[in-house]
Amino acid sequence: MQSLRCSSLVVLVRVLGQIGIGVLAVVATTQAIEVLRQEANQSPSGGLGTPQQPATLWVSAVSESGPAELSRSFEKPFQTGPVLDPETVSGHFAGSNSLASEQELVSASTGEAAPSGDGKLRIICFGAHPDDAELRCGGVAALWAAEGHHVKFVSVTNGDIGHWAMAGGPLAQRRIAEAQHAANILGIQTEVLDIHDGELVPTLENRKLITRLIRQWQADVVIGHRPYDYHPDHRYVGVLIQDSAFMVTVPFICPDTPPLKRNPVFLYSYDSFQRPVPFRADIVIAIDSVIDKKIDALLRMESQFIEGGALGSAETTPKTPQQREAKRQQVKESFRRRFAELANRYRDKLIELYGKDLGQKVQYAEAFEICEYGRQPSKEELRRLFPFLPQQ
Ligand SMILES: [Zn+2]
Repeated sequence: MQSLRCSSLVVLVRVLGQIGIGVLAVVATTQAIEVLRQEANQSPSGGLGTPQQPATLWVSAVSESGPAELSRSFEKPFQTGPVLDPETVSGHFAGSNSLASEQELVSASTGEAAPSGDGKLRIICFGAHPDDAELRCGGVAALWAAEGHHVKFVSVTNGDIGHWAMAGGPLAQRRIAEAQHAANILGIQTEVLDIHDGELVPTLENRKLITRLIRQWQADVVIGHRPYDYHPDHRYVGVLIQDSAFMVTVPFICPDTPPLKRNPVFLYSYDSFQRPVPFRADIVIAIDSVIDKKIDALLRMESQFIEGGALGSAETTPKTPQQREAKRQQVKESFRRRFAELANRYRDKLIELYGKDLGQKVQYAEAFEICEYGRQPSKEELRRLFPFLPQQ
């Protein structure tokens, strides 16, 4: 009996002890989260937003400097990067980290509130990294924006392994700033989601995230990668967009964000991969009138196109302002060749859409494929969605 009482006492003391430790842990965790939140609010990224478009909250931990991405040489005019002192580069931006729930991630990614009823088109373009939407849709975005339509680019990852000399929070913040500069030139909104580069997966959480973004933007047109692409982040952006293509209209999924009454037209941006099926150019748009603007926007993404991104190196990075300027000219010419090649590849489609005279003269182009999910536009509707096509 005595020993029974004694052991009961021991159990009681242990339980009380564990409760005490638990309380201390909760208090400590709460304080830690508060400190991280305050740091996040003071981080340089807080200055990147405009009143219309709050900067993306810095909500997750930095990733390690991971292995370089698979070769992106086909999508970069020059992989050879400039010589850059890694300390100088990483000193440009100081990152800070905090914690995020799904809700925080969502509230951090709302961007500009969708104006409604102004009669203008609303387009949202998803890319996996800060440079993908700019590369594939920068011209058509500038054309829409010039006519007062509302365009938003979303980079689904933060690009935080996309450089040979720096990584993590500082690189992500640098790339957010580059995307913002590019958007300012194109006249559009932009947003970089805080998901690590190279780590995007098509989860239910991410499906809801994309669904909400499309709904919040009240999109008429959604553009993204095809799910057949060398880079896993590109592929999964394609899958996530396909997964959202029906859900955006279904009221009882993500009921916190009103469903779209009309399913948008979903488009794939161009890629050159052949298996399992090659890209089909359903829409080819002349971007001659905005080619300089598009290339200017891309040249603002120096971490990628001047310094070589993930596969650059110290040897190939320009060391002096003169070398940097020479590199800019090289890159500019490379981009011109690249977008001219698309116009030549899809000349027949340009002639079909623009007529023989105009179609033959087009020098630079962007191309899109209509996704079989989402609304299927008639030829007449396509000309309404791309109002810079000649009306027939
Ligand atoms: Zn990419």
